[in-house]
Amino acid sequence: MSLLTTPLPRRHSVPVRVGNVLVGGDAPVVVQSMTNTDTADVDSTVKQVADLARAGSELVRITVDRDEAAAAVPKIRERLDRLGVDVPLIGDFHYIGHKLLADHPACAEALAKYRINPGNVGFKAKRDTQFTQIIETAIRYDKPVRIGVNWGSLDQDLLTRLMDENQANGSPLTAQEVLREAIVQSALLSAERAEDIGLAREKIILSAKVSQVQDLIAVYAELSRRSNHALHLGLTEAGMGTKGIVASSASMGLLLQQGIGDTIRISLTPEPGGDRTREVQVAQELLQVMGFRSFVPIVAACPGCGRTTSTVFQELAQTIQNQIRDEMPIWRTKYPGVEALQVAVMGCIVNGPGESKHADIGISLPGTGETPAAPVFIDGEKAMTLRGPRIAEEFRELVIDYIEK
Ligand code: SF4
Repeated sequence: MSLLTTPLPRRHSVPVRVGNVLVGGDAPVVVQSMTNTDTADVDSTVKQVADLARAGSELVRITVDRDEAAAAVPKIRERLDRLGVDVPLIGDFHYIGHKLLADHPACAEALAKYRINPGNVGFKAKRDTQFTQIIETAIRYDKPVRIGVNWGSLDQDLLTRLMDENQANGSPLTAQEVLREAIVQSALLSAERAEDIGLAREKIILSAKVSQVQDLIAVYAELSRRSNHALHLGLTEAGMGTKGIVASSASMGLLLQQGIGDTIRISLTPEPGGDRTREVQVAQELLQVMGFRSFVPIVAACPGCGRTTSTVFQELAQTIQNQIRDEMPIWRTKYPGVEALQVAVMGCIVNGPGESKHADIGISLPGTGETPAAPVFIDGEKAMTLRGPRIAEEFRELVIDYIEK
């Protein structure tokens, strides 16, 4: 692969409408997430879907694993509509999706998309019948389907067949390469089967999730080369904390740079009691720092060093970032374009003025031994110098003024 100094043009994919959101084609890369509540618990699920949507999730997936969950789906949709939360809901089905959709027509109707896993659509002998039933339901209700392969539940018959074929041919592929090929084929063959049944390509999104970065890059590169289906990117079991963020960003960043990917989910394992919306924030920040979309003004701040002995500038940067995030739902509608704003909070004179000039509004706080004065730059020009104990507060006010003007 060549060194990609600029993003490659977006891969052409067939656009798929999911409720009121377009995925693929020329549409911007869509951010999505998934709840971890019991879907049968309507109150908790409504709250979490609303939280995720307010954080910026443009699609939200919920588990539909049993009758109680399927029965709750229309109630959840209704409650969300009453709250004015119009985010499309995606039903995540495994094993008995065909039955749940057949037994709960209101659920089939309320969902904007069905996610099915070709590795576990029903029991082996009946797999094709049950896959067909789900696809026919999608056609009847005019819903798109994500064919979501996951290597943790890969179709073992397909894998065994490819392993045997590889061996019979003298093993030209490593076991890992065969596994990757099985993942790709599982997605492509299932999509082909869905189209044979009558589901239009405009109704199919593909994903093939694995948990290792190099596997993910290889699998999606192959999927994008061999199909024009819209692609959902995601590293499964990405992990906790920084590891999950780094692994997801590294793999998806590289694919997005190659023009691959129409919707992304960052699957983070939340810490106990942790905030589920974190995965939405990370997905937005990934797309924003790569220059593909703008969601929330990002505050640039230096890391600090021996020239900054106080924590004033870190606290100021954090406070401004939090405040911006909190106000965004209102600002977004009030001040169009505010999401692209760049703010800089720097710790000393070394890089402070330079970085601040590149931002829309920036401040260079005084480092150790410097005159206790903080020049503020607005639109690239030095606008004023703040002094005294209220520097942080005054700069926050200036940022708000700037946005409002
Ligand atoms: Fe250190 Fe100043 Fe650079 Fe910040 S801008 S990292 S305080 S030298």
